[in-house]
Amino acid sequence: MKNIFLASFCFFSAILTQAQINPESDSDGCSQKCSRANAGQMQQRISYYQYPSMDKYDLHYLKLDLSAEPGSRFISGTAGWKARAKEPMDSFIMEFKNNMVLDSVYINGVKKTFQRGSDHVFIPLSPTVSAGSELDLTFYYQGTANSNGVFSGSQSSSGLTYTATLSESYQAREWFPAKQFLGDKIDSADIWITTTLPNKAGSNGLLVAQVPKPGNKMQYQWKTRYPMNYYLPHFSVGNYMEYLNYAKPAAIAPDSILIQNYISDNPTYFNSVKTNIDKTPPFIELYSEQFGLYPFHEEKYGHVHAGIGGGMEHQTMSTMNSFGSTLIAHELGHQWWGDQVTCASWNHIWLNEGFASYCEYLAIESLPSLFTTTAATYMNNVHNNVMSVNTGSVYVPDTDLYNEGRIFSGRLSYNKGSAIVHTLRFIMQDDNLFFQALRNFQQQYKDSVATATDFKQVVETTSGKNLDDYFNQWYYGEGFPTFNITYLMQGVDSIVLVVNQTTSSPAVTPFFKGLYELSITSTQGDTTVLINLEQNNQVFKIPYQKTPNGIVVDPNNWVINRTGTIVFGGVIPVRVNNWKAEGLTDCSFKLQWTAENQGTTENYIIEYRADSNQFVQVGEVLPVAGATASYQFTYQPNQSGTAYFRLLSVDRFGLRTYSPVISVEDPCRPQTAVNIRPNPAIDHAEILLNIPVAGNTQWRLVNSAGQVVYKERRALPAGRNTVTLPLQNLAAGMYTLEIILPDQNRYIEKLIKK
Ligand SMILES: [Zn+2]
Repeated sequence: MKNIFLASFCFFSAILTQAQINPESDSDGCSQKCSRANAGQMQQRISYYQYPSMDKYDLHYLKLDLSAEPGSRFISGTAGWKARAKEPMDSFIMEFKNNMVLDSVYINGVKKTFQRGSDHVFIPLSPTVSAGSELDLTFYYQGTANSNGVFSGSQSSSGLTYTATLSESYQAREWFPAKQFLGDKIDSADIWITTTLPNKAGSNGLLVAQVPKPGNKMQYQWKTRYPMNYYLPHFSVGNYMEYLNYAKPAAIAPDSILIQNYISDNPTYFNSVKTNIDKTPPFIELYSEQFGLYPFHEEKYGHVHAGIGGGMEHQTMSTMNSFGSTLIAHELGHQWWGDQVTCASWNHIWLNEGFASYCEYLAIESLPSLFTTTAATYMNNVHNNVMSVNTGSVYVPDTDLYNEGRIFSGRLSYNKGSAIVHTLRFIMQDDNLFFQALRNFQQQYKDSVATATDFKQVVETTSGKNLDDYFNQWYYGEGFPTFNITYLMQGVDSIVLVVNQTTSSPAVTPFFKGLYELSITSTQGDTTVLINLEQNNQVFKIPYQKTPNGIVVDPNNWVINRTGTIVFGGVIPVRVNNWKAEGLTDCSFKLQWTAENQGTTENYIIEYRADSNQFVQVGEVLPVAGATASYQFTYQPNQSGTAYFRLLSVDRFGLRTYSPVISVEDPCRPQTAVNIRPNPAIDHAEILLNIPVAGNTQWRLVNSAGQVVYKERRALPAGRNTVTLPLQNLAAGMYTLEIILPDQNRYIEKLIKK
């Protein structure tokens, strides 16, 4: 269904959205503000109750034999059902609006009593019907149907007067007794409509007979043998002319598929829409390639013209308010997405509307000469419409199951639904795989119903890819990401990108992981790169040898997103100053440094080695806030000796910068130390000796002529010692003091005697 919400109350918003998204059709993409309620035709949130015991039987055949006239919602005739009891039944219940008059009900040829109430019909069964029983029901009824299930009127623009049914989502019961369970498709139907000539009646399947009736009437007998959901049987009567096309999908060559169009019998109007109607064959041929052969090729496709505000994908014959190219593409796409495979519940309307909307894109993309817009413009407009509100999921929550404004939200079910199919195609990174997955899904669920989970499983099986993130973020999740990117060149052959993301609905979807395309623009030519974003502020280093001048996020509109800030070189690598170390009396080392431009620093790593060993990491310091900061770090090695340190700064671009290596003596290892005091001295001096090992130590004083003028030898303990050196008998002048330690190391100091 499309554009059904176009109505006077939402006229302006519908036209504005339309102008952006679908310039060729006369209405489109109404926001959830627009609904049939606004048009006096559809309640946003309907009051609805359904008796679960209706699912005790399976409906498999429908026969409608009705009379209707263009311009009137009065309908009369019979509805026949064939049903099979799935379990014992003591009553048969159908849905049928109370305003319609039910004259009589027959089951297996026997007239039955019945009750009406709550828009249901209750038929007691006595005796109880056993499981497996076949029931043949006939309902005789008449009445003027409500305007939310049957549309009638005239179109001044086309000269058409019409009456048309539209049952999606809960309105089949407005015009015939129905069981509105998505899971119960009928196998076949015969729909006979009698109307006054020269009017015609369009419906599902093949027109097998036209039988004249008294009073200048004609009965149009339509017959379909394809399974069909409860909301897809339909009819339209109007002053139609017939126009035929034929589609020729390669799969059935040289056969062709009939396209039967019932259009207002007005040559001027017909000439104005013929060009677009003639696009239907190439669209069928395209989708037959992409999704598998047109599902109902044994019967027909077609259009029937009626003022329903938009389009409705009635199986094998869509009802059309107008004939815009994208509307034609959309309703045709539904023949696969909605009709052959139907959403199993309205929660998953995506499988109908998201995909039918994406069919518009596919037609524009593959057959651009048939459109005035481009695929890029089209998808860009879709994204802009989605992002006009920060929240909302494609998935319809249970609380909105009777809110038709939400189920058929143009922004969420149609536009976001379409955009995320495009995203899925991008994730596949392989169009063959993507379309194979779509064909597999169609094949697996044809003539049946499916949920998004079923679809997910088929795509995962086909592709081997896990789609948990995709569905959690884009289908069940809400909102969209905004990207902020910092980029800079690293050397002359790499570009570094820091990718930051904020989201519009962070309480529901805080992050959108996954593949993204980025275009690095340059006067030397743009470069498109593919990134797999797994966390926020992720750094990507990419080989790149041009001079960049910008980044374009998602240049091909694969993903709903906005671009925030794109900053080039906004960051300079950190600079470490005043890098120093000192030994402390507790045998540890205190390291200190200051840092400038540390805005992007991830951490500082302290590396240590003793003597000739390899550097190892011995500590990590995280940066404090601010561009400039001072740090200190204390480290106590478990081995003695000279310590060597260097500091590694790591920033979030992956840049790793080392400080110079500094060395420090071990504060706890005794070192040989010789100190003479006072110096110069008059009559004696003291020698301060700090020695690492105990043993015999010699010292002697040599004058400037090389003569030994004093010597002494003594056993000294390790550590600090003080010995006295007598000078009173020596001449004034320069002397050399030689000290020979127990380890035979020799120290020489100058001494001046006054
Ligand atoms: Zn639709």
